[in-house]
Amino acid sequence: MDILKVRDLVVDYLVREGTLRVVSGVSLDIKGGKVNALVGESGCGKTTLIDAILNTLPPNGYIRSGKVIFKDVDILRLGEEERRRIRWEKIAVVFQAAQNSLNPVMKISEQFVETVLAHRRETKEKILERAAKLLEMVHLDPAQVLNSYPHELSGGMKQRTIIAMSLLLDPELLILDEPTSALDALTQSYIIGMLREIHEAKKQSMLLVTHDLPIVAELADRVAVMYAGKIFEVGTVDEIFYEPLHPYTAGLINAIPSIYGDLSKMRPIPGNPPSLLNPPSGCRFHPRCQYAKDVCKRKEPPLVDAGGGHLVACYRYSG
Ligand code: SF4
Repeated sequence: MDILKVRDLVVDYLVREGTLRVVSGVSLDIKGGKVNALVGESGCGKTTLIDAILNTLPPNGYIRSGKVIFKDVDILRLGEEERRRIRWEKIAVVFQAAQNSLNPVMKISEQFVETVLAHRRETKEKILERAAKLLEMVHLDPAQVLNSYPHELSGGMKQRTIIAMSLLLDPELLILDEPTSALDALTQSYIIGMLREIHEAKKQSMLLVTHDLPIVAELADRVAVMYAGKIFEVGTVDEIFYEPLHPYTAGLINAIPSIYGDLSKMRPIPGNPPSLLNPPSGCRFHPRCQYAKDVCKRKEPPLVDAGGGHLVACYRYSG
C-alpha cells in the first residue's frame, strides 16, 4: 500500500538569474512498510522534493502545482498548523548533518521532553522511559546519553540520538535525507545496520534520500532515480542495480567504485548535469546519452511501465 503519493509536483526557486524549476512534474509513490529510496546526484532536486513535502522550503521556494497525498489527504491544502503536526507526528525527518540541529546548551533528556511537549501533553517520566527504549534501539547507553550535552557525544552518537528522537512520536513515515553524510565509513556502516534493525523491528516505512548508491543497495526495497528535477526510473532494488533500463541509471551504477572490482571498468557518465535555469529540451539527459536520437531532443519521454511496475522515462522503452 502507498503511504504517500506525490502527483505532478512542480517547485520553483526564484534566484537573481531567474526561475529555477528544481522539481519539474514529479509523481512518486512511497510504499508503506518498505524502505523506499530516492537517488540522484547533488542538485538533482531530491532535497527540494522533500522540503516541498514537509513544508520546509526556503523563502524563495514556491510550490507551483501538484499534490502530496498522505493517507487520502492532500497535505499541501492543509493549514500551516495541521502540516506542522503531520511533520513530526506522522512524518518525521532526519535532515542532512542533523547532528548540528541539537541544541548545544540543553541536555539530551530536555530535548527529548521538549520535542514531545511541542506536540502533546505527556508526563516527563513517560517521555524519558520511551526515550530510553529508543536510545537502546540505536545501541546507545540511555543513562549516559540522556545526561549529556551534545558536545559530549561523538558525531555518530549524535546522529543516532537524532534518529531515536525522530521515532519518539511513533511516526508512520521516517524520511532520512543523506543520513550518513559527514560520518566516517565505519560509523556509516554501523548506522546502516541500525536502520535495517529499526525497519525490521517496527516495519517502519522509510524514505531514504541519498546520492550514495551502496547505502541504497544495502537498505532499500524500492528505488526512484531522479535527474535534473525529473524521475527517470523506479524499480525494485534488484531491478535498479542488476537490470537498469535508463541509460542514466546504468551510468550511475557503472560509476560506483568497488573494493574488489577492476577500477579500469568504472565508467563515469560523460559531461555534467544541466543547469536548471535553462535545461535541455526533450529528454534532459540527451546531451550526455549515447543512445540519443532526434525525438529525444524534441519531446520529453513519458514515465511508462516497462513491465511488472518497473517504470522508465526513455524512448528506448516507449514509442
Ligand atoms: Fe537517451 Fe533518448 Fe532515452 Fe533520453 S530518451 S535516455 S536521450 S535514449
